[in-house]
Amino acid sequence: MSLKEIQDRFAKAENDAGRSAGSAQLIAVSKVQPNERVHAVLKQGHRVFGENRVQEAAGKWPAFKEEFSDISVHLIGPLQTNKARQAMELFDAIHTVDRAKLAKTIARLAQELGRCPELFVQVNTGEEEQKAGVSPQEADGFIEECRSLDLPVQGLMCIPPADEEPSLHFALLAKIAARNGLSALSMGMSGDFERAIALGATHVRVGSAIFGDRAYEL
Ligand SMILES: *Cc1c(COP(=O)(O)O)cnc(C)c1O
Repeated sequence: MSLKEIQDRFAKAENDAGRSAGSAQLIAVSKVQPNERVHAVLKQGHRVFGENRVQEAAGKWPAFKEEFSDISVHLIGPLQTNKARQAMELFDAIHTVDRAKLAKTIARLAQELGRCPELFVQVNTGEEEQKAGVSPQEADGFIEECRSLDLPVQGLMCIPPADEEPSLHFALLAKIAARNGLSALSMGMSGDFERAIALGATHVRVGSAIFGDRAYEL
């Protein structure tokens, strides 16, 4: 697959859903990919990327940002509080706000730095033990808590269980967002992004379909 093919499928999915072109943003997930592949996608004009790890992103993106302007990098993997400062300096958006301690740390750092990335609350829609995110039951309360800290929460993010129909999880995420007055939905990956767009995704995280298989999984 190539960037162009994914962009075409994206546009078709938006159109099929009766949505305007560009209403869903394609985040090219570059984690673990060789720099040449990332460079090739930058050369084709794409500027929005996703990374799982602060350390990996810190080693990769400063150089690309010198070569290309207007790059935006989103953190889509779990964030430890002791890496929050570095993450806030490096990323334009953090999709994985999932606990009070992290929310409070981000709020304190936002005061100190005078800026804050766009934030998404991660919801563990499948209530899987091994996955991060607040449970669907806790979501309203946690969003409220983030708001009371003045955090710029734009929306919600989920990673559906691998063995379940993702549409059910996308619909649940959309429902929780709607009842909390949130407009952004970070959902959909290589295997299911068309279904995510049909259900209202505004930020879609596609890795292997653009870059090819990863050498190893995180
Ligand atoms: C790796 C990853 C993706 C991209 O997965 P693909 O199946 O390669 O598209 C999306 N979201 C998150 C949170 C990821 O960790």
